[in-house]
Amino acid sequence: MEINGKTRTCGLIGNPVEHTLSPMIHNTLSKLLGHNLVYVPFPVEQGRVDTAVAGADALNLLGLNVTVPYKSEVIKSLREIDELAENIGAVNTLVKTDGGYKGYNTDMEGLYRAMTSEGIVIDGEQIILLGAGGAARAVAYLCAVKGADKVYMLNRTVGKAETVAEEVNRTVGREVIVPMATEDYTKLSDRKYLAIQGTSVGLAPHTEDVVIDDAALYEKIHTGFDLIYNPWETKFMRLVKEHGGNAYNGLKMLLYQGIIAYELWNGVSVPEESAQMVYEKLKGHFV
Ligand code: NAP
Repeated sequence: MEINGKTRTCGLIGNPVEHTLSPMIHNTLSKLLGHNLVYVPFPVEQGRVDTAVAGADALNLLGLNVTVPYKSEVIKSLREIDELAENIGAVNTLVKTDGGYKGYNTDMEGLYRAMTSEGIVIDGEQIILLGAGGAARAVAYLCAVKGADKVYMLNRTVGKAETVAEEVNRTVGREVIVPMATEDYTKLSDRKYLAIQGTSVGLAPHTEDVVIDDAALYEKIHTGFDLIYNPWETKFMRLVKEHGGNAYNGLKMLLYQGIIAYELWNGVSVPEESAQMVYEKLKGHFV
């Protein structure tokens, strides 16, 4: 692609942004789909999110992704917010509109597309969710709206799980999220669960870490989904597999949150074939 007077710019704001794979996703998509668009990372210092968004607007940037630590903070800089993102309380995608940006959350829908593509069902499931941070909160909301029977949200800081449970349960109008302290996993009844690992434990370089290292838990898991994708196989995934379950990492979630953002910016539907080509390229980064 030749950069010329009509090239549109998208980017990522966060801190740090140096290790992001998002430019690979979006620049590959624009090449595959023949769009005159470039995507670049923009490191933004603490306290300067509002200035960054105003600057992006002034420069007519088509869209932005937002990453840690600004997914909640950016909300006050938006002209408009999508209802889903508002309910989750986090925005990872900004789309240019007249007079500012509209904020969306594509992490949640990205996770849903990733799970669906692996044949994982949420409807009617009993789910163990590890973590109560920003990502786990979006997962809790996803599980609640997609019909999970119960979601046992286990977190080191139980107060955070209680807050998320209270908010999500109120939003969906049923008692679906059950907050628990991590060590109370022993109280879970004997049955098979879908388990989603939503903490940052096990992320490279701490690849031998896992939130719960007890065979008794893994005996209860039929499918494990780790939001982490670096390393390619986390210890959590390894333990799930060793006890007979299927395990998946978070790379497809990353892929699809990017695909959905790209679709919002360009008003297109990305063909699955192109999504798979981007996935193979991302995968090549790890294996
Ligand atoms: P966050 O808001 O900082 O939350 C971190 C979570 O991990 C909290 O539940 C925290 O528990 C828990 N935790 C951290 N250190 C712990 C420890 N030593 N022992 C036990 N629990 C610990 O982070 P986040 O934004 O939710 O991200 C969580 C993970 O999801 C990250 O690894 C991130 O890479 C991944 N992620 C992946 C994607 C994707 O596209 N695949 C998207 C978003 C996030 P406390 O509440 O007790 O501190």
